[in-house]
Amino acid sequence: MSAARFLDPAGERYGVPTYPWGWAFVFDPDLATRKQLAARGLRPGGQQVAAQLMWRSRKARRSGGIRTAALFRISLAKPKLPMTPARSRALAAALRARRTCPTCHLVFTYCMPTSLGQCPNCVYGYTPEPWELEGSAA
Ligand SMILES: [Zn+2]
Repeated sequence: MSAARFLDPAGERYGVPTYPWGWAFVFDPDLATRKQLAARGLRPGGQQVAAQLMWRSRKARRSGGIRTAALFRISLAKPKLPMTPARSRALAAALRARRTCPTCHLVFTYCMPTSLGQCPNCVYGYTPEPWELEGSAA
Protein backbone atom coordinates (compact mmCIF):
# COMPACT_ATOMS: atom_id res chain seq x y z
CA MET A 1 0.00 0.00 0.00
CA SER A 2 1.55 3.24 -1.14
CA ALA A 3 0.96 6.67 0.29
CA ALA A 4 0.57 7.93 -3.28
CA ARG A 5 -2.93 6.54 -3.13
CA PHE A 6 -3.79 9.48 -0.86
CA LEU A 7 -2.03 12.06 -3.01
CA ASP A 8 -4.53 14.20 -4.90
CA PRO A 9 -3.28 17.81 -4.87
CA ALA A 10 -5.89 18.89 -7.43
CA GLY A 11 -8.80 17.30 -5.55
CA GLU A 12 -9.86 15.27 -8.59
CA ARG A 13 -10.44 12.04 -6.71
CA TYR A 14 -11.60 13.23 -3.30
CA GLY A 15 -13.23 16.60 -4.03
CA VAL A 16 -10.70 18.56 -1.98
CA PRO A 17 -6.92 18.58 -2.35
CA THR A 18 -5.71 15.53 -0.47
CA TYR A 19 -2.27 14.74 0.88
CA PRO A 20 -0.87 11.73 2.68
CA TRP A 21 -0.06 12.29 6.35
CA GLY A 22 3.06 14.43 6.68
CA TRP A 23 3.14 15.51 3.04
CA ALA A 24 0.86 18.55 3.03
CA PHE A 25 3.64 20.86 4.17
CA VAL A 26 5.83 19.74 1.27
CA PHE A 27 3.21 20.71 -1.28
CA ASP A 28 1.75 23.77 0.42
CA PRO A 29 3.47 25.28 3.49
CA ASP A 30 0.39 27.45 4.07
CA LEU A 31 -1.69 24.46 5.20
CA ALA A 32 -2.15 23.41 8.80
CA THR A 33 -4.51 21.23 10.82
CA ARG A 34 -6.75 22.76 13.46
CA LYS A 35 -4.29 21.54 16.08
CA GLN A 36 -1.31 23.06 14.29
CA LEU A 37 -3.17 26.36 14.02
CA ALA A 38 -3.92 26.26 17.73
CA ALA A 39 -0.23 25.72 18.46
CA ARG A 40 0.41 29.05 16.71
CA GLY A 41 -2.39 30.78 18.62
CA LEU A 42 -4.69 30.72 15.59
CA ARG A 43 -8.12 29.34 14.74
CA PRO A 44 -9.65 28.57 11.31
CA GLY A 45 -11.97 31.58 11.74
CA GLY A 46 -14.83 30.40 9.53
CA GLN A 47 -12.73 29.67 6.45
CA GLN A 48 -13.55 26.70 4.22
CA VAL A 49 -11.54 23.52 4.53
CA ALA A 50 -8.67 24.07 2.09
CA ALA A 51 -7.45 20.49 1.86
CA GLN A 52 -7.37 17.27 3.82
CA LEU A 53 -4.90 14.75 5.12
CA MET A 54 -5.56 11.09 4.57
CA TRP A 55 -3.85 8.20 6.24
CA ARG A 56 -4.38 4.57 7.09
CA SER A 57 -5.23 3.75 10.68
CA ARG A 58 -6.17 0.53 12.36
CA LYS A 59 -8.39 2.54 14.70
CA ALA A 60 -10.68 3.64 11.87
CA ARG A 61 -12.04 0.25 10.89
CA ARG A 62 -15.54 1.57 10.31
CA SER A 63 -14.42 3.92 7.55
CA GLY A 64 -12.32 1.29 5.79
CA GLY A 65 -9.18 1.91 7.85
CA ILE A 66 -8.74 5.43 6.49
CA ARG A 67 -8.72 8.58 8.57
CA THR A 68 -8.85 12.17 7.40
CA ALA A 69 -8.10 15.54 8.98
CA ALA A 70 -9.12 18.93 7.66
CA LEU A 71 -6.42 21.38 6.62
CA PHE A 72 -6.84 25.15 6.78
CA ARG A 73 -4.90 28.07 5.33
CA ILE A 74 -2.56 29.66 7.85
CA SER A 75 -2.79 32.92 5.86
CA LEU A 76 -6.60 33.01 6.35
CA ALA A 77 -6.56 31.95 10.01
CA LYS A 78 -7.60 34.39 12.71
CA PRO A 79 -6.08 34.88 16.14
CA LYS A 80 -7.78 32.99 18.93
CA LEU A 81 -10.54 34.92 20.66
CA PRO A 82 -9.19 37.26 23.29
CA MET A 83 -10.07 36.49 26.89
CA THR A 84 -13.15 38.45 27.93
CA PRO A 85 -14.17 38.70 31.61
CA ALA A 86 -17.09 36.32 30.97
CA ARG A 87 -14.82 33.80 29.25
CA SER A 88 -12.20 33.94 31.97
CA ARG A 89 -14.92 33.51 34.63
CA ALA A 90 -16.31 30.48 32.81
CA LEU A 91 -12.82 29.04 32.49
CA ALA A 92 -12.07 29.61 36.17
CA ALA A 93 -15.36 27.94 37.14
CA ALA A 94 -14.61 24.96 34.90
CA LEU A 95 -11.12 24.58 36.34
CA ARG A 96 -12.46 24.93 39.88
CA ALA A 97 -15.04 22.21 39.17
CA ARG A 98 -12.22 19.92 38.05
CA ARG A 99 -10.39 20.63 41.30
CA THR A 100 -13.44 19.93 43.47
CA CYS A 101 -13.87 16.44 44.87
CA PRO A 102 -17.44 15.22 44.29
CA THR A 103 -17.26 13.10 47.44
CA CYS A 104 -15.84 15.41 50.14
CA HIS A 105 -16.62 18.70 48.27
CA LEU A 106 -13.21 20.13 49.13
CA VAL A 107 -11.46 22.30 46.54
CA PHE A 108 -7.94 21.10 45.86
CA THR A 109 -4.89 22.76 44.37
CA TYR A 110 -4.82 20.07 41.66
CA CYS A 111 -7.37 18.50 39.31
CA MET A 112 -9.15 15.33 40.36
CA PRO A 113 -7.47 12.32 38.75
CA THR A 114 -9.91 11.14 36.07
CA SER A 115 -8.98 7.55 36.87
CA LEU A 116 -10.29 7.97 40.43
CA GLY A 117 -13.18 10.37 39.87
CA GLN A 118 -12.62 11.82 43.34
CA CYS A 119 -9.71 12.95 45.46
CA PRO A 120 -7.07 10.38 46.44
CA ASN A 121 -7.90 11.02 50.09
CA CYS A 122 -11.47 9.81 49.65
CA VAL A 123 -10.23 6.78 47.70
CA TYR A 124 -7.52 5.78 50.18
CA GLY A 125 -9.08 7.15 53.37
CA TYR A 126 -6.44 9.81 54.04
CA THR A 127 -6.92 13.27 55.48
CA PRO A 128 -6.02 16.00 52.95
CA GLU A 129 -2.74 17.79 53.68
CA PRO A 130 -3.00 21.60 53.99
CA TRP A 131 -0.96 22.11 50.79
CA GLU A 132 -3.53 20.10 48.86
CA LEU A 133 -6.41 22.41 49.68
CA GLU A 134 -7.07 25.68 47.94
CA GLY A 135 -7.14 28.77 50.09
CA SER A 136 -5.34 27.17 53.03
CA ALA A 137 -2.49 29.12 54.62
CA ALA A 138 0.04 26.33 54.18
ZN1 LIG B 1 -12.56 13.83 48.41
